[in-house]
Amino acid sequence: MSPRSRENERPWVAIGSDVIRQIRQHARSSIKTEVCGVLVGSENGDGMEVEACISGLNAEQAGAHVTFTQDTWEHIYKVKDQQYPDQRIVGWYHSHPGFGIFLSDHDTFIHKNFFSSPKQVAWVCDPHSDEEGCFGWVSGRIERLTQIRIIDRQGGEGAEVGGRPEPVVEELEDEPVAGQAWGPARRDSEMVSLTQLTVTILSHLSVLVLGLVIGWYIFPRIVMVPVPVDPLTGQPLVLRQMEPDSQGSAVPQGGQGTSSNPPSKPPDPGKGGHAQR
Ligand SMILES: [Zn+2]
Repeated sequence: MSPRSRENERPWVAIGSDVIRQIRQHARSSIKTEVCGVLVGSENGDGMEVEACISGLNAEQAGAHVTFTQDTWEHIYKVKDQQYPDQRIVGWYHSHPGFGIFLSDHDTFIHKNFFSSPKQVAWVCDPHSDEEGCFGWVSGRIERLTQIRIIDRQGGEGAEVGGRPEPVVEELEDEPVAGQAWGPARRDSEMVSLTQLTVTILSHLSVLVLGLVIGWYIFPRIVMVPVPVDPLTGQPLVLRQMEPDSQGSAVPQGGQGTSSNPPSKPPDPGKGGHAQR
């Protein structure tokens, strides 16, 4: 039989884009182990239309190879009776995470035993490579099908129905090009380190100023306060003013008074010129 005549025997498959999306999302939900489910739809002349899918719960825990367990079938028929009472199960799907599109011996066993009707198909997808393929019955044997039609259920809408503009990305000019890929990034890191340096210096300075202010109020100001000292006697003027008060006799104050009075006390070499407290 020539390939051309075979082409006429191969059934076509029409599948909704929303169904493909659901299958892809189910496959991506388990990136290491296979997942499976069934396809729901109706036969249509030479082909078959997939209108929905039902994920096979409890099947993905089976390990590397998918298996339709009793629980899986119970869940599938329950969902089908509730949501798709008028459709038929027109095939099944499963994922091959990372190993491509084909039907293994295990897969053909499943197809022959559970999906043996002439129009039933097996959809395979690889969530790692985003490859997809569909297998079906051609002259009594299973082959990869050539005609897959994707149905967009929102097709037919006017193009300007939404009237929404595309979002504007403002920073496209700064998109690094090959060769200067590190330029903007390095400038950013320099700015960051400069900012950090400034913050560090400012915080150290503020701590220093705070410490000075606290020290100013707490510790006695021995050195900082200048005490007037008589240029002749070397006595602090504060002390000279207090002495007459303690002795009860009035003595003229100021430079005149000290010059008329002979220095009664020689300057104490140990205390002269220093504040006494
Ligand atoms: Zn498989």
